[in-house]
Amino acid sequence: MSHVSEIYGSMVFNEHTMQERLPSATYKQLMRTIKDGEPLNLEVANVVAHAMKEWAIEKGATHYTHWFQPLTGITSEKHDAFLDPTPDGRAIQSFSGKELIQGEPDASSFPSGGLRATFEARGYTAWDPTSYAFVKDEVLCIPTAFCSYTGEALDKKTPLLRSMVAIDEQANRVLKLFGEGHQKIVTTVGAEQEYFLISEKDYAKRLDLVLTGRTLFGYPPCKGQELEEHYFGAIRPTVNEFMKELDDELWKLGVSAKTKHNEVAPAQHELAPIFSNSNRAIDENLLTMEKMKLLASHHGLVCLQHEKPFEGINGSGKHNNWAISAGKKNLLDPGENPMENLRFLVFLTGVIQAVDDYQELLRMSVASAGNDHRLGANEAPPAIVSIFLGDELGAIVDALISDKEYTSAERVAMDLGVAVLPNFLKDNTDRNRTSPFAFTGNKFEFRMPGSAVNLSDANTILNTAMAKSLKEFADAMEGKSGDEFEAAAIAYIKDDLRKHQRIIFNGNGYSDEWPVEAERRGLANHPTTADALPCFIDQKSIDLFGEFNVLSEVEVRSRYEVKLEKYNKLLNIEARTMKRMVRRFFLPAINSFAADVARDIAQVKAALPSADQTFQEKKLQTVVDGTKRVEEALDALNTAHLANVEIADQQERANDNAHHVIPLMDELRAAIDAMEIVVDDNHWPVPTYNEILFYC
Ligand code: ADP
Ligand code: MG
Repeated sequence: MSHVSEIYGSMVFNEHTMQERLPSATYKQLMRTIKDGEPLNLEVANVVAHAMKEWAIEKGATHYTHWFQPLTGITSEKHDAFLDPTPDGRAIQSFSGKELIQGEPDASSFPSGGLRATFEARGYTAWDPTSYAFVKDEVLCIPTAFCSYTGEALDKKTPLLRSMVAIDEQANRVLKLFGEGHQKIVTTVGAEQEYFLISEKDYAKRLDLVLTGRTLFGYPPCKGQELEEHYFGAIRPTVNEFMKELDDELWKLGVSAKTKHNEVAPAQHELAPIFSNSNRAIDENLLTMEKMKLLASHHGLVCLQHEKPFEGINGSGKHNNWAISAGKKNLLDPGENPMENLRFLVFLTGVIQAVDDYQELLRMSVASAGNDHRLGANEAPPAIVSIFLGDELGAIVDALISDKEYTSAERVAMDLGVAVLPNFLKDNTDRNRTSPFAFTGNKFEFRMPGSAVNLSDANTILNTAMAKSLKEFADAMEGKSGDEFEAAAIAYIKDDLRKHQRIIFNGNGYSDEWPVEAERRGLANHPTTADALPCFIDQKSIDLFGEFNVLSEVEVRSRYEVKLEKYNKLLNIEARTMKRMVRRFFLPAINSFAADVARDIAQVKAALPSADQTFQEKKLQTVVDGTKRVEEALDALNTAHLANVEIADQQERANDNAHHVIPLMDELRAAIDAMEIVVDDNHWPVPTYNEILFYC
């Protein structure tokens, strides 16, 4: 057996293991729960728990945990030993069905946006049997949803699962119109994860990296990414060793890590898995992020997952490839015969409507202090949502909108619903890297998410908005069949595309003209998180989430609060770190350098009174002027920051951060960076970009 097939999934309680380890009746019952959503009774759960425990112990596990995704976005776990003391002073290893199905973490410290007052800070975790349990670091991890006792979701997974129920229901209604029987419909995700690797030694010397995950100061390196030699370049040995260990660990956990390569920026890399069901794909992405951080330390490296660790070179994103599948069929695949083509056009139109109607929510779903540095920075799509269809599909949509006949490059006339869509749509090689939402042959690639984000929010919104499009279509087609249905469907598509054509943009999203054109089209442009968040609590959003039982109004409002608070807290940490570094590291270094220069001047003057010291004096003047600029910028930031933390209203505070505090942080940074290239290397207190980006 090959290395991969030997280790792949060896630490996962997957379908294969279940079949091997469970009595056949239990296995069948569990499959009905996993595949058809049937409830699980306690008797079955007890049998599953026992088998799972025996298996986990063989894999070296001593503890179990309910593994969940609180609103912080990262995963949480509390480990409980498989331990049950007996009256005679010994202990047995036990794990019951009840412990498998439900857990009670002490939830009072997780953010809830005011959903639970602390006195009733009780939440429980519930097993999500659609995502496999696994053993990681001697702990059996059970993927779970996290809810309050009053039923509100306190995590990222629950609304995602609810949105998948909504899509399943509405897409089935649409497929029924096409004469198809009921089937399990899921959305799929393939998350391409970008990250940086730097040396532990440099990292430890930079308080900004340690506390905020990004460099708050730093002059651009002499060499950036202009030679384009790093992208797909040979992978350095240390990094290669790291990647090999990472692949092995992920494969054991059943994460289908497939592609690894160097990215555009120096020290930047990417890992892409093979796609799976959205909820499992997101679990796998979170595991991948965790393993990356952990394993980097085995190689003297640190894995940075911040969206913009370094100014002036590319930041890191997490492209969210997304499609809808019904069994083996991908509903975003153009298909091969007229009916499949029509079905594809119905789903395509649904996506276009969903993205146009809920563009602000999609933008909101990826808003974070970190991602604000990336969106619109000429390396990532702008903060404006638009859809790229490519030439071929774009031309078909144009033809539908203008009611013209479409003739493809292969001269296949397409009278919709009769002729066949051009075949080469499928290997659409037409790539537009500047589009935030691009059709890539049989899936859409949402490119706005940042590297650090939990993709649940974006996918919850995408799925719910899509469910709404499909519902409207199914409602409009109610009772129609045969030719009448086909004609009505084509008319519906044309009409809907006309309404939403403003969201389609095939041009260059990085150009200066696009924001102007986008404004003319009435598309939203929310450059910062503070601008992007308020749409979450618009009536339109609350109605959408309510209609499909994805989030109640209370849940929406609490999530909005959590996001606002997180943004404000992060900016508070960044401002404090900046001030601390300037006061304790940079100013003393600059002053000491100035004193050295002054001493040199005096010594030369004493030894050689006639010497021309213009250049030395000029340098001293630059440093003295630079110090003044730093002091002034520090003062201004300090005043603004202290005033900011006093603002009680979180949205007001976020606005102040985005539009007042951040520009002052930028000025302080510029003042320090200007000194970095004047002050002698021996005096500079932190490793520079040149060292960090090119040495490891
Ligand atoms: P591209 O060339 O567009 O980057 P790849 O085949 O390399 O395409 O895929 C990029 C990512 O998209 C991978 O993670 C892949 O698994 C994922 N992907 C492919 N098909 C789908 C799909 N139907 N649904 C979700 N993700 C998909
Ligand atoms: Mg890609």
